[in-house]
Amino acid sequence: MPLLLHWLRYCWLPGLLLAAVAAQYFNLLSFRGLLLPKLPYVLLGIALSLGVFFKSSRVAFVAVLLLAGYTAVNFFQVVPVGETVVGLALALAAVNISLVSISEDRSPLNGFGVLLLAVITAQGMALAELQRCCSAQLGGWLHFPVGSMLPPWLPDILKRVQSEDLLLISAAAFAGLRAFWRPEHIGVGLFACVLLLLGAYYAGAEEGTLVLVAVSVGLLLTLLALRSAYELAFRDELTGIPSRRAYSRYLLTLGRRYSIAVVDIDHFKKLNDRYGHQVGDQALRMVAGQIARYGGGRAFRYGGEEFVVVLRGGDNERASRSLERMREKIAGYPLRLRGASRPRKGDSRALSKRGQGGGKVIKTTVSVGLASSSREMRSPEDVLGAADRALYRAKRGGRNRVCVHK
Ligand code: GH3
Ligand code: MG
Ligand code: MG
Repeated sequence: MPLLLHWLRYCWLPGLLLAAVAAQYFNLLSFRGLLLPKLPYVLLGIALSLGVFFKSSRVAFVAVLLLAGYTAVNFFQVVPVGETVVGLALALAAVNISLVSISEDRSPLNGFGVLLLAVITAQGMALAELQRCCSAQLGGWLHFPVGSMLPPWLPDILKRVQSEDLLLISAAAFAGLRAFWRPEHIGVGLFACVLLLLGAYYAGAEEGTLVLVAVSVGLLLTLLALRSAYELAFRDELTGIPSRRAYSRYLLTLGRRYSIAVVDIDHFKKLNDRYGHQVGDQALRMVAGQIARYGGGRAFRYGGEEFVVVLRGGDNERASRSLERMREKIAGYPLRLRGASRPRKGDSRALSKRGQGGGKVIKTTVSVGLASSSREMRSPEDVLGAADRALYRAKRGGRNRVCVHK
């Protein structure tokens, strides 16, 4: 049974390809016909499956939105050139994407997904109704000169703004601001999607342009879903730096000369007990940021309040100089505690300390153990063990120091 599951999990794609080749051989399918106009369905379909599989409601929503729009354009044979309903659909899609870009990712297969689907359906129905009842006025609404209502002293360019520009530019600005304030892959990618729609709109939304834009968005969404899966696997969620799994992978790429440093926060348990776990997490994020910035090598969260830095070249002197600087930066960093600190569920001791961190500034220190590869010590496990022993000496020597394995 597990073997069958493995087969199903890994063999469906080659199986699908085989079936497609067989269908072509028996003249059931033509790849020529499948190309471009059908390609958006394939790519957006892949993006949708990945969005559902990796629980990215944002990727899934945008894929469904564009699938629905593209299908409607093809199904109703709307000749897009100069057709205002297509322009309106593009502007609406841009607004939808920018709004969804600020939401948190979650599984799309629940009430939230149903809600999003209902929103898309309602908009589609409204568009169809508008096209049926008032297609003549649609152009007027879309090109309504909203800028003409602005005060006369404003620049001319603003006074030429029509309602379509307002919709598209505010959608792009909204998504852009969101991507700027919280730069993460999906937010930035969705901003790029809005820009693509903007480009298509101002390019005249001809059939070829629509196909190209749908293909590009499909590809982009697929990449975003894959990238977020990569982040999930290799990045530590709390601190944002690469995780222990990434460390294991990175070791496979090392040459013969390298150094490994183990960094451990001093008296971290006391900090947690005194100010609560939320402040502890804040300290972890700060320390991780400083290690990644000043450590002089590639930093990873090893586990708990321990980090490792891998430095290529194996130059002990240089490595210990940069680690010393990093240690000083951390020791001097004023950690401003935010309002109330909320300890983890069930942590009754920390719970009783809740709220004691408000407004205060604290400092924290780290101890570091460093070791480099040598003829006697070739494997990363041995080097890490030696760095661990050096760390032990740093702790015993009074903490807040760097000890090098000799
Ligand atoms: P030392 O100076 O000897 O290293 O003492 P320490 O208190 O730092 O070391 P100890 O190993 O006794 O405590 C580590 C603490 O780190 C215990 C655990 O509650 C805390 N910790 C581990 N992971 C996390 C986390 O993700 N968030 C928070 N807030 N605390 C964590
Ligand atoms: Mg520790
Ligand atoms: Mg510690």
